Amino acid sequence: MANKKRIETVCVQGGYTPKNGEPRQIPIYQSTTFKYDTSEDMGKLFDLEASGYFYTRLQNPTNDLVANKLCELEGGAAAMLTSSGQAANFYSIFNIANCGDHVISSSAIYGGTFNLFANTMKKMGIEFTFVSPDITEEELDKCFKPNTKAVFGETIANPALAVLDIELFANVAHKHGVPFIIDNTFATPINCRPIEWGADIVTHSTTKYIDGHGTSVGGAIIDAGKFDWMKHADKFPGLCTPDESYHGIVYAEKFGKEGAFITKATAQLMRDFGSIQSPQHAFYINLGLESLHVRMKRHCENGQKVAEFLSKHPKIEWVRYCGLPGDKYYELGQKYMPNGSCGVVSFALKGTRKDAETFMKNLKVAAIETHVADARTCCLHPANATHRQMTDKQLEEAGITPTLIRYSCGIENADDLIEDINNALEKV
Ligand code: PLP
Repeated sequence: MANKKRIETVCVQGGYTPKNGEPRQIPIYQSTTFKYDTSEDMGKLFDLEASGYFYTRLQNPTNDLVANKLCELEGGAAAMLTSSGQAANFYSIFNIANCGDHVISSSAIYGGTFNLFANTMKKMGIEFTFVSPDITEEELDKCFKPNTKAVFGETIANPALAVLDIELFANVAHKHGVPFIIDNTFATPINCRPIEWGADIVTHSTTKYIDGHGTSVGGAIIDAGKFDWMKHADKFPGLCTPDESYHGIVYAEKFGKEGAFITKATAQLMRDFGSIQSPQHAFYINLGLESLHVRMKRHCENGQKVAEFLSKHPKIEWVRYCGLPGDKYYELGQKYMPNGSCGVVSFALKGTRKDAETFMKNLKVAAIETHVADARTCCLHPANATHRQMTDKQLEEAGITPTLIRYSCGIENADDLIEDINNALEKV
């Protein structure tokens, strides 16, 4: 789009401007391959001399239209879609950290991401140090090692709902010459745009609010295009020295700050790992994006009402929702997300793990799902599901207790949600 549009307009129209007579909705390029007239034309694509499509495992036009919209929403320079949020977070780190490298991550992150970092990537020789999301600048400073390649966190942690001090994490990362990567799944670009606060790479599980209707697993990576890889060339050989698997291309030289990270992740990681999103899924995600700004407002209104109700209920031990005055993260929430955070409320029942199970069993409107951030209200008891693999100590560090319930407010009527919670609490 020629002029910079407001975020609501970008949700609806960003990424794709049809020309005269072209389809109004984005076309689904349901094709694995693309045809060329000469081998020379094709060769230029393989040499990254020309841009274009040759095989959907690497890139597809439908995906790129949707990635462009996300890029515009987050205020980035380049973006790509991935098959899942897991793939997005894996790529975001593996694109710059190799065997023998070290990464610092907030400990308050999604259980699947924790597993990926602490177990799977550890097997690949990448060591993670997990730090409290509430860490001070001085303490964070001390966690860096000569081989540290990135700092990672979540805007709003799933399910602990800790709000990250984005500026603090970004500033300390930059002081040590490494990028700050942030998973913005829960806030979405409607409520927070981490790049505006100094983040370098933003990731998403588009499976959540962005899709919003529980139809398509997907992910995205958006690069701010601001990190100067060449300035720290010794730390990032993958971007700053020739890639022999691509005819000696030096990504940071050829594509600059704006294009190097996403080009490398596409040309190398997508080529080799193939975690591409299907064009059909990209189309669904685009439908979700078209109403994201409308839905997020309602998710936040419902979240606020449910959190306020729970905070006054005698059977509730505590409620975490950064929209509640007095919440540990209220001030950070107001700073980074003044218009609302998300629809997810975490709370703990008074009593035992068994009491939490009884409560869950008696909910009728909210469904028990290993899902979150959807139009339909759903809830989960993490100690029995996503975080089962964690030790008690790790659970505690991630801000999770045995009766913690993650309750994801959909876009139904808040009074129905509150009545449902009230009825279930009566059974406990
Ligand atoms: N990041 C966050 C914050 C999540 O909540 C999730 C999934 O719940 C993921 C990443 C992983 O995303 P996906 O399930 O799309 O792989």
